[in-house]
Amino acid sequence: MRRVLVTGSGRGIGKAIALQLAAAGFDIAVHCRSDRASAEAVVTQVRQLGKQAWLLQFDVANRAAAKAALEQDIAEHGAYYGVVCNAGITRDGAFPALTEADWDSVIHTNLDGFYNVLHPAVMPMIQLRSGGRIVTIASVSGIAGNRGQVNYSASKAGLIGATKALALELAKRKITVNCVAPGLIDTDMVQELVQEELMKMIPLRRAGTADEVAATVAFLFSEPAAYITRQVISVNGGLV
Ligand code: NDP
Repeated sequence: MRRVLVTGSGRGIGKAIALQLAAAGFDIAVHCRSDRASAEAVVTQVRQLGKQAWLLQFDVANRAAAKAALEQDIAEHGAYYGVVCNAGITRDGAFPALTEADWDSVIHTNLDGFYNVLHPAVMPMIQLRSGGRIVTIASVSGIAGNRGQVNYSASKAGLIGATKALALELAKRKITVNCVAPGLIDTDMVQELVQEELMKMIPLRRAGTADEVAATVAFLFSEPAAYITRQVISVNGGLV
């Protein structure tokens, strides 16, 4: 049994990742913050694919809550073979208008979430002694920066640095650590952005799909991807 935790997997990109990894043979710890009904539906879909599924609910920005929930899940069901740090938020605005709350919530969720989720999960992964996979979901904003997203770009650039450093630490354990950086993907997060004007900036002239991001994550979880670590793979239609 190979268990994989996918944070924020009740909807959007995380849901697509959970279902593709289940189809590839992994058992899935589905995770949500608030939308429990959607996450329960994903648990059902994973089970319909013949794999085991569990539901975890906590705010990745809440260190104590994340630690308690993850330690309990690991104690009851065993260590994760893999973790996908997908949960994330945007609070966009031109920098002068960015509030302290906009800054703090994005950094706490997108960057602190890396520590809050992976710190309780990594030592049990190492002790499993079966290698493993960690994938973080960053963004083209973390690679190139994006106007109106100073907070989000900072959080995702930090996530990329953390991912590369952790890859170095875990390489001798045969745990690969990579980052997938999506461009504009058609999910709830960007509903109001998917407009014709913006499409003209994307060489492939369309938004990507959650399944297209998930396919890259699923590849990183496959055996042929075992030699790929410390990389950022961007799925962005040629945007950057
Ligand atoms: P959605 O808004 O569709 O879904 C976000 C998911 O993250 C939800 O499952 C949500 O849970 C969860 N989540 C948000 N905040 C928290 C929190 N504090 N604690 C726990 N879970 C939380 O987003 P996408 O699917 O579009 O995005 C997924 C990832 O991909 C994010 O990291 C995002 O930054 C990144 N990304 C997305 C792009 C896009 O164009 N869509 C582009 C580049 C990167 P719940 O439903 O329970 O609230």
